[in-house]
Amino acid sequence: MKISVIGTGYVGLVTGTCLAETGNEVLCIDIDANKVKQMQQGEVPIYEPYLDVLFERNIKASRLKFSTSLLEGLEHGEIIFLALPTPEDEDGSADLSYVLGVAKEIGKHIKNYKVIVDKSTVPVGTSDRVKAAIEKETDIDFDVVSNPEFLREGFAVDDFLKPERIVIGSSSEKATKLMQKLYKPFVRSGNPILIMDERSAELTKYAANSFLATKITFMNEVANFCEKVGADVDMVRIGMGSDSRIGKRFLFPGIGYGGSCFPKDVKALHKSGKDNNYDFEILNSVIKVNSAQKTILIPKILSYYNTDLKGKTFGVWGLAFKPETDDIREAPALYIIEELLKHGANINVFDPEAMPNVEKKLGDKINYTSNMYDTIKDVDALIICTEWSIFRTPKFNLLKERMKAPVIFDGRNLYDIKEVENEGFHYTSIGRKVAT
Ligand code: NAD
Repeated sequence: MKISVIGTGYVGLVTGTCLAETGNEVLCIDIDANKVKQMQQGEVPIYEPYLDVLFERNIKASRLKFSTSLLEGLEHGEIIFLALPTPEDEDGSADLSYVLGVAKEIGKHIKNYKVIVDKSTVPVGTSDRVKAAIEKETDIDFDVVSNPEFLREGFAVDDFLKPERIVIGSSSEKATKLMQKLYKPFVRSGNPILIMDERSAELTKYAANSFLATKITFMNEVANFCEKVGADVDMVRIGMGSDSRIGKRFLFPGIGYGGSCFPKDVKALHKSGKDNNYDFEILNSVIKVNSAQKTILIPKILSYYNTDLKGKTFGVWGLAFKPETDDIREAPALYIIEELLKHGANINVFDPEAMPNVEKKLGDKINYTSNMYDTIKDVDALIICTEWSIFRTPKFNLLKERMKAPVIFDGRNLYDIKEVENEGFHYTSIGRKVAT
């Protein structure tokens, strides 16, 4: 099939590449000319495991092409995916200007029947608004389908190729059939393609993300409470997670959720509730608790240094909002760094993939180091913000040798408390024994 994907970010590029992998002819459109040039030269503009292999293979086979021209995209695809940003607006709602702006352009230039597929995460009712925006400009027949994306950054290729479910919100039989044909190769193992109305599809995505954010936040509160009462959140987590109704995943406490999705999606669903005279109280709490959790290490650090961080140097391991991505949107590390800078501290950082993005944002306010052991040279303490695998078994001897003092503040509970303390470290983590 001929497919166009408008917006070539984490979702659009993975969607386009994986659809090319199953034999479709895909044209990816992006407004960012530099990015398009980079991709035309065979460079993947984001870090996503295994994407480079598929990307290269499909470009070579001429199934994957790039352009800045929306008109070209409209001409090419019988199915047009919108994988555009829906960032948080000032009032917490999802900013639909990218989606509706492109919809208007589609209306102006559409020449024959197309299925417009919304892959962006959007509030309930957006497919009606997209439809109206196109209809306003044209009499040509088209259908709008809501097809929310559930891929996780860091596992995006695998998630797209082997989805647990595909959600299609559609009221057109013709469009539904096309979507089923397109996705058939991805559900050979028997996972479902769920067909529903557009509104339910739109809400499914927000509800899923908000539920996961709530699960993480609940565990963070349990962890905080563990510290008050001398319980160990690792024990509690395993005890809880053994119940199959709860499950083991998403129970790890830490320094809050970040990224380009959970923060904005929880806020957007909360705002959507407000707009429809419904007070999503639970989401209100999730937003509040998570915002405090991002800097939960700061009071612990301040307390250790008697509130005086002036002239202290900290080494930070991990900047991305989670491992296996270079995405730093809403990353807790950035909030922690900002607080430490406010207190007059110096910061060295290391992240396997996210440093260029952080450098674009923070410039020379902090020092970038090229490996994890340079980060901690002469530092007063190490702070761990992202659970990249390489941080899990460090050479503690080398740390002790290079650091000014053997102190670790761990926002991701990477180490066994006894082991690190036996190595001679003062070790503070989340929801476990508070170091004295
Ligand atoms: P992104 O910011 O990485 O990419 C968006 C791309 O769209 C950018 O390359 C940008 O240049 C391009 N763009 C902006 N305006 C354009 C226009 N008018 N024409 C063509 N291109 C344009 O965003 P993303 O992370 O891929 O997210 C896209 C959508 O998918 C959002 O709604 C997001 O909530 C949702 N989503 C994201 C994830 C994720 O893990 N990132 C997962 C599921 C759903």
